[in-house]
Amino acid sequence: MLEKLSEKFSDIARSLSGKATISEKNVEEAVEQIKLALLDADVNLRVVRRFVNATLEEAKGEKVLKAVSPAQMFTKIVYDRMVGLLGDTKQDLQLRGPDTQSVILLVGLQGSGKTTSAAKLAHMLKSKGRKVLLAACDLQRPAAVEQLSVLGAQIGVDVYKEEGCKDAVRVASNALAKAKHELYDVLIVDTAGRLQVDEELMAELARVRDAVKPLESLLVADSMTGQAAADIAKSFDERIGLTGVILSKFDSDARGGAALSVKSVTGKPIKFIGTSEKMEGLESFFPERIASRILGMGDVVSLVEKAQSVFDQKETAELERKMSEEGLTLEDYLQQIQSMKKMGSMKSIIDMLPGLAGKVSEDQIDEAGMKREEAILRSMTKRERQNHLIIGPTRRTRIAKGSGTSVAEVNRLLKKFDKTRTLMKKMTKNKKYQQQLMGQATKGR
Ligand code: GDP
Ligand code: MG
Repeated sequence: MLEKLSEKFSDIARSLSGKATISEKNVEEAVEQIKLALLDADVNLRVVRRFVNATLEEAKGEKVLKAVSPAQMFTKIVYDRMVGLLGDTKQDLQLRGPDTQSVILLVGLQGSGKTTSAAKLAHMLKSKGRKVLLAACDLQRPAAVEQLSVLGAQIGVDVYKEEGCKDAVRVASNALAKAKHELYDVLIVDTAGRLQVDEELMAELARVRDAVKPLESLLVADSMTGQAAADIAKSFDERIGLTGVILSKFDSDARGGAALSVKSVTGKPIKFIGTSEKMEGLESFFPERIASRILGMGDVVSLVEKAQSVFDQKETAELERKMSEEGLTLEDYLQQIQSMKKMGSMKSIIDMLPGLAGKVSEDQIDEAGMKREEAILRSMTKRERQNHLIIGPTRRTRIAKGSGTSVAEVNRLLKKFDKTRTLMKKMTKNKKYQQQLMGQATKGR
């Protein structure tokens, strides 16, 4: 996600980083580059202008020109502004206590991802111990009710529907009555969408809203539509009153125009992003992390969090220490393969690593190959895994036999491991450097 935009920003940063001092002209040039990058990302023009002017003003100040590392200082300014554009801080979903119903209304254009997001949200809230009911109020498309029922069954969440009913308001009210009666504490209402903003639809949505009195009215917008998402949000907000936005299909958005325009244009926060078609593919929206990602700092925080949920914390700390002190061993490599299997696809992990994001394509990752590697690693003794340097020709032949592979494959793995080891060493150094940089960047905020 956001590959294109972050590529541009790393180019800009690179062009500045070599310079010991930055002249006013350099700043102007860099800001001009930023302007082009944002326009190319399809960020709203007024938003771009405001961003550029404010950045220029701040960056031209004496502070920057005399700073020890002007490039860092400049990055800090851009980073802060970018976080501001994205909405400053993470905005949580409002929910009442479990003894009353919290209603979440999802609205948006057709195909924007409402039904998928409704189910994802239900899945997320269920995993937090909420008792969730989904209401199928898209009665326009024939298959819409069925789609929600299938997803509901898949995640184990009840779906309220009325066969043959054409009145969305009635279904919504009855769903709420059921939720109250049967003590569900969250009701998520999926609604119909049109291809464009349409008065008839808005009127229906307004009636549904009045019937269920939602605590959250979220627009589901396709992030691939760029700044149009912000305009759509504006129309829906004027008519229905939004409390926030879910940006769907963020995984396929290389440009970021929607994310960077929505908050500034509408004043409504982005609360979640959709990151895959799967039920797990819904994440809270963290402006700071997205800004780091755009600015090419990688999303170290997300990665660590994700890793922590799988790795034992102690294990992780140990691995980090080892990686920076003595480097990776084959033993760690085996453990990593196992943990990665638990964490999901390699691609999603690689996308979060600084320096690798967007540079590795799906077909460069070979999950079947990972299984063969695991077999090879398991045919080694622990001592061999702890010190790969002792694995000479005889051992290689034995390992190949034991794992049902070939000596060539064993050689390839060892070679690749050596490369990874070097890369990991670089990255842990890099990460420390980035933390220093971020530490300085966030000082005095
Ligand atoms: P609706 O018409 O607004 O209800 O849209 P749907 O929920 O039916 O979604 C339309 C299509 O977009 C479906 O094929 C979904 O699988 C897909 N989709 C929805 N959200 C995401 C997302 O976050 N990432 C990706 N990759 N696909 C998504
Ligand atoms: Mg739908």
